[in-house]
Amino acid sequence: MTHPAQPKASHFINGEYVEDTAGTPIPVIYAATGEQIATVHAATPAIVEQALSTAKAAQTAWARMTGTERGRILRRAADIMRERNHELSVLETYDTGKPLQETLVADATSGADALEYFGGLAASLTGEHIPLGDDWVYTKREALGLCVGIGAWNYPTQIACWKGAPALACGNAMVFKPSETTPLCALKVAEILIEAGAPAGIYNVIQGMGEVGGALVTDPRVDKVSLTGSVPTGKKVYAAAAEGMKHVTMELGGKSPLIIFDDADIDNAVGGAINGNFYSSGQVCSNGTRVFVQKGIKEKFLARLAERTGNAILGDPMDEATSFGPMVTENQMNIVLGYIEKGKEEGARLICGGKRADMDGYFIEPTVFADVTDDMTIAREEIFGPVMSVLDFDTEEEVVARANDTEFGLSAGVFTKDFTRAHRVIGNLEAGSCFINSYNDAPVEAPFGGVKASGVGRENSKEAIKHFSQVKSVYVRMGDVEAAF
Ligand code: NDP
Repeated sequence: MTHPAQPKASHFINGEYVEDTAGTPIPVIYAATGEQIATVHAATPAIVEQALSTAKAAQTAWARMTGTERGRILRRAADIMRERNHELSVLETYDTGKPLQETLVADATSGADALEYFGGLAASLTGEHIPLGDDWVYTKREALGLCVGIGAWNYPTQIACWKGAPALACGNAMVFKPSETTPLCALKVAEILIEAGAPAGIYNVIQGMGEVGGALVTDPRVDKVSLTGSVPTGKKVYAAAAEGMKHVTMELGGKSPLIIFDDADIDNAVGGAINGNFYSSGQVCSNGTRVFVQKGIKEKFLARLAERTGNAILGDPMDEATSFGPMVTENQMNIVLGYIEKGKEEGARLICGGKRADMDGYFIEPTVFADVTDDMTIAREEIFGPVMSVLDFDTEEEVVARANDTEFGLSAGVFTKDFTRAHRVIGNLEAGSCFINSYNDAPVEAPFGGVKASGVGRENSKEAIKHFSQVKSVYVRMGDVEAAF
């Protein structure tokens, strides 16, 4: 019997499901059991061509619609996503293995927020009038044209919407390629947009590995590439986009600092560290994986952290009581277990976890290392799993310098009751998305993105509009033209 997660076909182009079984089969594995639940096929060159030419053809008419009309469609899509939240959350759980307890509140709902927010902004994308005596300049905010979105595997619905909603609000068309690991959810986003009244062809989804992404990025018809992925992939995609002088948004990895001063409320700080390391089993780019704790409260903090981490419920992700799911794939599990071994070898003190959980699926116990030093591998490299490194510090000056000593710059957080210090420390940290007495909140109203190797551009908020549109300026002369000859 066909599994309910199996999509009707692999791709969604020009308003309908499209199949081409000549493409390499991609098995979809449910991370909680290891069973294959669906198969899709990578896009063949013919499918890539169909998606790009369809999107290119559909974009002009879409951009000519009024912002109010475009916005209405996006807001209707948001409503449909919210009505179907349960069904979409179950699919997200099949796609990623994340527990339903999370997917019910963080995935289709976050996608719907983006559709609603950018739907609301679509009608407000206006230009300026700049008077110059009798003459004047006016500006228009125009679409870029054909945009490509490429997603990572940790938030397949959210990423499809965070890229699609602002792109479409600005009058662009999109071809979206999900990660080969999680190909299911973006198809539903495309389906819902059509149901909401979007013209066929403005949002297309095609499957494939890096080579399909590469074909999209290098196509001369493509005006913009928005990638969520790792830093090495980001470097390749950025370079390929530069060849064609394309616009880019790069949402890449991180190794973010979470700094806890000794005046912090311990339970809130522990809660922040848990949210910043164990949500989605640690598979979150903005995670605060270097937890710097001031020496005075170190042991108290560790004791409370171990106690609360012991309350994590590992189990069937479809059971809403489960609060901690598996790694997305066996491969990702092995990578993370490798880092845990490195942590032990390099002398970090294991506080809790530290091994694969004794159950089916790709579960790793939530793991905390203490006495981690700046040079240890687990403190330098992005692990993308449930491994928290706790480091000690004495002074504010010292911790800021150590926190900034990394190639990454996605996020940073600080816990303290001293508000002057909180703002000063955040001001001195090299990071794009920051938190004071909190961690990992990502409302659509707030810009999201990194500095240094963690990325270029911002998603969400009004900032995203700047990255999916461009300004045309028009000089208007009222008098005669003077010329030298
Ligand atoms: P990858 O970098 O491996 O892949 C990202 C996407 O790029 C996938 O769809 C992948 O396809 C595709 N891709 C790979 N090579 C190329 C290429 N040469 N040209 C075009 N596309 C290509 O990342 P993961 O999927 O492993 O995701 C984890 C990473 O994503 C982590 O580093 C994490 O920090 C980062 N991330 C960043 C976020 C942010 O907003 N800053 C949010 C979430 C994750 P395929 O999978 O089929 O190979």
